[in-house]
Amino acid sequence: MATSPPPAPRPLLARLLTPVGPPEARLHERDGAAVLAVPGRYSVTYLVIGPERVAAVDVGSSADVPRVLEALAWLGRPASSLAWVTPSHLHFDHAMGVDALARATGAEVRLGRVALEASQGRRRLRWPPGLPLIRMIPTWPMQGMPFLPLADWREGLDFGVPWGKNRFRARLGAPLLEGEPLAGFPGWEVLETPGHADDALALHHAGAGFLIAGDTVRNFLGGEWNPLRCDARDFARTKARLLALGRVETAFPAHGPVLEGERVLARLNDLPWWCP
Ligand SMILES: [Zn+2]
Repeated sequence: MATSPPPAPRPLLARLLTPVGPPEARLHERDGAAVLAVPGRYSVTYLVIGPERVAAVDVGSSADVPRVLEALAWLGRPASSLAWVTPSHLHFDHAMGVDALARATGAEVRLGRVALEASQGRRRLRWPPGLPLIRMIPTWPMQGMPFLPLADWREGLDFGVPWGKNRFRARLGAPLLEGEPLAGFPGWEVLETPGHADDALALHHAGAGFLIAGDTVRNFLGGEWNPLRCDARDFARTKARLLALGRVETAFPAHGPVLEGERVLARLNDLPWWCP
């Protein structure tokens, strides 16, 4: 096995505009847990590596699918070892490639409780209100100004947009429920983390101190709590809850490089209102 996984794209604008630079493709291993970061077109795909099977969190674009397949091959795992794919929340830049990856590998799509209700038309997901949403615009060039490839226009835009129905064509697996052990992934647990989005999920491995944080945590500016929130009170509760988690020494943000260090969440910044 080569020492480093297939390299990630390093868009020029992302290198120029974000102090921390674009995310890197890297395998993180500690105390029985392993996560491979596979930076994608809009967000980072995290592969959770179990003893026999692999799970994928977030696939922003169908254009990311080949790189995820390459990453699996680099891990020495067949594509059929991918057990399931989940979006950390139903926002397009995390969800447009989920169905495509699941169909390419035969994996299931698994959704959290709230995302599942939304995809069944039983619940409407709230979006961050208009003014804060404007803060999102400068973050697009900070990610290298990715354009949507044709496949995302054709199919992806049913997912993670206010008008999308989030109907997956791949097989839907059992919902990812908080408090239930994740079969095949010892030590990992699901946390419901509403605030940025109503359906936001995180995956925590207390033994390793790993937190796949979804879009609750970003790293464009050195590590920050995402200023985009559909519900500020929910976000505050989620933040307090994450800060009280036993051990988190590696936080995997949905955007930007992985954050590491003792009590890494306590060092995250709350951005002033004028920051992107
Ligand atoms: Zn989001």
